[in-house]
Amino acid sequence: QSETIAANIKRAVAENNLANEVQVIKTGCFGFCEKGPVVKMVPDNTFYVQVTPGDADELVLEHLVKGRKVKRLLYVDPETHTAVSDSKHMDFYKKQLRIALRNCGFIDPENIEEYIARDGYSALGTVLEQYSPEKAIEVVKASGLRGRGGGGFPTGLKWELTRKSKAEQKFVVCNADEGDPGAFMDRSILEGDPHSVLEAMAICGYCIGADKGLIYIRAEYPLAIKRLKIAIEQARKYGFLGNDIFGSGFNFDVTIRYGAGAFVCGEETALIHSMEGKRGEPTVKPPFPAQCGYQGKPTNVNNVETFANIPVIFLKGADWFSNIGTPKSPGTKVFALAGKVNNVGLIEVPMGTTLREVIFDIGGGIKSGKKFKAVQTGGPSGGCLTEKHLDLPIDYETLVANGSMMGSGGMIVMDEDDCMVSVAKFYLDFTVEESCGKCSPCRIGNKRLHELLDKITLGQGEEADLSRLRNLATVIKDTALCGLGQTSPNPVLSTLDNFPEEYEAHVKEGK
Ligand code: SF4
Repeated sequence: QSETIAANIKRAVAENNLANEVQVIKTGCFGFCEKGPVVKMVPDNTFYVQVTPGDADELVLEHLVKGRKVKRLLYVDPETHTAVSDSKHMDFYKKQLRIALRNCGFIDPENIEEYIARDGYSALGTVLEQYSPEKAIEVVKASGLRGRGGGGFPTGLKWELTRKSKAEQKFVVCNADEGDPGAFMDRSILEGDPHSVLEAMAICGYCIGADKGLIYIRAEYPLAIKRLKIAIEQARKYGFLGNDIFGSGFNFDVTIRYGAGAFVCGEETALIHSMEGKRGEPTVKPPFPAQCGYQGKPTNVNNVETFANIPVIFLKGADWFSNIGTPKSPGTKVFALAGKVNNVGLIEVPMGTTLREVIFDIGGGIKSGKKFKAVQTGGPSGGCLTEKHLDLPIDYETLVANGSMMGSGGMIVMDEDDCMVSVAKFYLDFTVEESCGKCSPCRIGNKRLHELLDKITLGQGEEADLSRLRNLATVIKDTALCGLGQTSPNPVLSTLDNFPEEYEAHVKEGK
């Protein structure tokens, strides 16, 4: 639909003889999915929502020709019932801080000059001209940036470990194999701002001593792939990829590898195997990819969102970045906010923002005036948090201490009508399907766990099944080989902890 809207606006602009004055640009996502498609007029920043192809003529005639806002397409504040024309004044955006998403919705991702106009590739130039690799790694370490793919490992330390591994050949890998149900953070960054990832990969290559970068991306992301390909070609043409970048003697180039959509390939050892043409199965660590990764060479793997933060850290400084968020989790996090919340969309908030702020201020509360029941953070690897957790600050440690995890950024909200046992079963359905089958705790244990949940939700469970569930979940967590299996029982354990009465009701009432 957005394509048709853009085409119709372009046609209307031409018909009104404005083609020399008005540019129609397709950007990446603005994040406000609930109100999309969005058309933004600049320079006055009027933000039109839920635009249809049929609105194009009116938008051009009223806004561009007559200089009047089209009131019916403006966002209406649900509390004050007044029309808001600038996104800066919308509750959805007020508490957000967009660092990784800074260019999404602002630039044409298919035009490198728009990225350059927003300081694109100047971080790379500064690093190559003014920093030794060691000094650049110190900057990343001082920023406190942690991996946004789920684990939260310190990025600078990861780079340092790969730098210290001695080898003729090293690799930089960008993990764009986003697999959480309902999550689309990485896709959105690649669709809206692919150059920021390429620039960061080149900086990483310089730091660790690699001249080759690989982006492992799901083949189901055709627009992201298309824009990445265009971005790589343009970056080569402008000399930001290739040989002797900025006349520094540093060579770096990027190629794309396609994933077939297996969730486990988000795990870095499985991802590397898949890139090598082998089965996408994890292996025991150590050795870590920093020592022995792609083709047996030292390899640094970071995800898309982690990389998207890197150029800004060099432009604005490690201190600037580390002062955002919390002391142990600096910076921001992108979340795909979904489920029973009014403002479904992609958001970016400083670490330390509370779940209440995310769900009620940014998310606009629960749909249809229903009561909040729970929120699942961390996708199928995370856990369900409840009313009592709403004022907890979102950071890596706090989420884990309360039975969930950050994960890559999926956040699904449940209301009073949702059965939490069925929610746990839904997530387990996913992990059973996605288990690679290499180790028995995950391959067999999760199947048995699923059978127990099936029995309980069909009203055929017995009291003893509840302790069986907990025991089995704990064994899987302690013994599975990789992160997928180790975290797969989290939805079961967290719902058992926070909603025991729902399990008991199924067992006692036989429903
Ligand atoms: Fe495969 Fe699951 Fe074992 Fe991970 S935990 S290696 S996904 S079977």
